[in-house]
Amino acid sequence: MQRLADDRLRAAGVEVWLKREDLIHAEVPGNKWRKLKYNLAEARVRGDRTLLTFGGAYSNHIRAVASAGSRCALSTVGIIRGEQHLPLNPSLAFAVRQGMRLGYLDRDAYRRKADADVLDGLRAEFGSFYLLPEGGSNELAVLGCAEIPAEIDMDFDVICCACGTGGTLAGIAAGLRPGQRAIGFSALKGGSFLEREVDALQFRTFGSRRGDWRIETGYHFGGYARATSELEAFIADFRDRHGVVLDRVYVAKMMYGTYSLARAGVFEPGSRVVAVITGPSFPPSA
Ligand SMILES: *Cc1c(COP(=O)(O)O)cnc(C)c1O
Repeated sequence: MQRLADDRLRAAGVEVWLKREDLIHAEVPGNKWRKLKYNLAEARVRGDRTLLTFGGAYSNHIRAVASAGSRCALSTVGIIRGEQHLPLNPSLAFAVRQGMRLGYLDRDAYRRKADADVLDGLRAEFGSFYLLPEGGSNELAVLGCAEIPAEIDMDFDVICCACGTGGTLAGIAAGLRPGQRAIGFSALKGGSFLEREVDALQFRTFGSRRGDWRIETGYHFGGYARATSELEAFIADFRDRHGVVLDRVYVAKMMYGTYSLARAGVFEPGSRVVAVITGPSFPPSA
């Protein structure tokens, strides 16, 4: 936990603490570690020797699965959206160095990646596998993320995290104590679909909605992996003030949104807010 000393927050009467999940592990950091924890245990119980998962060409999840698999003596397959581009970008090159085999699905097939015929095709090509959904968000991932709040050994009122698939928020919200609430910040444009996703993940995992949570959809800065000069300036200023380089795809948007809600008086004076740093900043080229 790292407290932010920041005049703007002081002026808003709010304490903000960073939960540095980015420091969990260099190659399997943050929420990717949380989501894989129980899935890797389950793959071992089932005797599966291969993990297969899906992602975009710059996916942090693909990198994390490749590294975790190699460390756990499991082979890995990454199914990438779109066509192959050579040379591989640094992210996919890293995955291949960890021993990951790559496959590609065109956009139409990728949209149907959970359908039985697509999965049968992948089994025919790669053999049997333990399936991790895109972004790694399934019930076991939600259980892993639900352990985050209990590790914060101080009282807090609000916890903020970034949302891609919503698995992290679904878990964090489920781990809250009464009186605490969670706010997710969509890193994607049109993030209102995330309400249904988080709801569905909580229903599948726990049988009901859990915790007090909501999603902010106005801090996407143009959409997934996009940024504006305003966001870039915020990242640079945050680095100068606090020595933390925020990941521009997810974490910076959450942090900007948290400051903005503080300024708008959304948090009661005296509130203690925890901002979860769900992962590190990889170099822009990676
Ligand atoms: C993958 C990722 C997310 C998205 O998490 P979801 O559980 O998919 O919502 C957020 N932050 C970082 C740093 C990530 O790498």
